[in-house]
Amino acid sequence: MLNLLVSIKQVPDTTNIRINPETGTLIREGVPAVINPYDISALALACNLKKTYGGKITVITMGPPQARLALKEAIEYFADRIILLTDRRFAGADTLATSYTLAEAIKFLEKTDRPFDLYLFGKQAIDGDTAQVGPGVAARLNVPVITYTIKIEELDLEKRKIVVQRKTERGIEILSARLPVLLTCEKEAGHPVFSPLSAILQAQKAEPEVFGADGRIPYDLNRLGLKGSPTRVHRVYTPEIKKQGKMINLDEVGVEAAVEEIIKLFKAKGVL
Ligand SMILES: Cc1cc2nc3c(=O)[nH]c(=O)nc-3n(C[C@H](O)[C@H](O)[C@H](O)COP(=O)(O)OP(=O)(O)OC[C@H]3O[C@@H](n4cnc5c(N)ncnc54)[C@H](O)[C@@H]3O)c2cc1C
Repeated sequence: MLNLLVSIKQVPDTTNIRINPETGTLIREGVPAVINPYDISALALACNLKKTYGGKITVITMGPPQARLALKEAIEYFADRIILLTDRRFAGADTLATSYTLAEAIKFLEKTDRPFDLYLFGKQAIDGDTAQVGPGVAARLNVPVITYTIKIEELDLEKRKIVVQRKTERGIEILSARLPVLLTCEKEAGHPVFSPLSAILQAQKAEPEVFGADGRIPYDLNRLGLKGSPTRVHRVYTPEIKKQGKMINLDEVGVEAAVEEIIKLFKAKGVL
């Protein structure tokens, strides 16, 4: 039976992130929070694997107390155990501190329960966009990582072997690894299906197990949150669009005149 770990992040429900120009931080007010879309694919993949092979899904997140809502939603994807890492000392974490916090919690879960076979992460979070947390956790757990996963081609639990398709700019790569392995998931990796009413009702009642920096997980406090984060975001801004495009309305000028106009423009720019 498979033992699956899915790591999810709650993010603002928009790809049009607004930044406070003075503080350089995200404006979260008035923006509803959702599960990061790539993490939904990871959850859907876990759900499919559980249906095929049987097993257990544990879902973890590090975030403010309201991140419990994302974990409750994960129950709709047949999660068996939901874990919230929340503490003021976790706040302000960069990818180094986030990876450390998650990895130490995962090690704790493995010590107190049993080791995971697969660790599923999103390929990136749509707010931070760094795509570093999955590989950062894999390094700390000392397991192989396959990024940009689009499909699991083969999973042999007896031989402890997995064959995975990953998307690259040049095409598809097919890689094999020994379990346990950490996969970061593209959208194609898993497609959510409608959850049965029983799962939705169960999700409403579910509450996560909560862990902080109180000593149960043996954290080095200097490696948590802002204190453990060497990265500083100095400035975040939307680049100014300096060049204006030229609009040619086909209905007004007709195709021939439009083509002539484009050729004229290209010649003026030295393109033709
Ligand atoms: C505008 C902006 C720029 C930033 N730039 C940087 C930067 O350059 N360097 C830097 O170190 N930090 C940066 N940060 C902070 C960064 O967002 C946080 O460190 C964040 O916790 C992790 O990075 P990420 O969101 O890019 O995650 P990614 O690495 O993109 O996330 C990949 C996957 O990791 C998992 N994951 C990520 N966060 C969590 C979590 N909290 N709990 C559970 N699973 C999680 C999810 O599965 C997710 O799909 C920036 C933040 C902002 C708002």
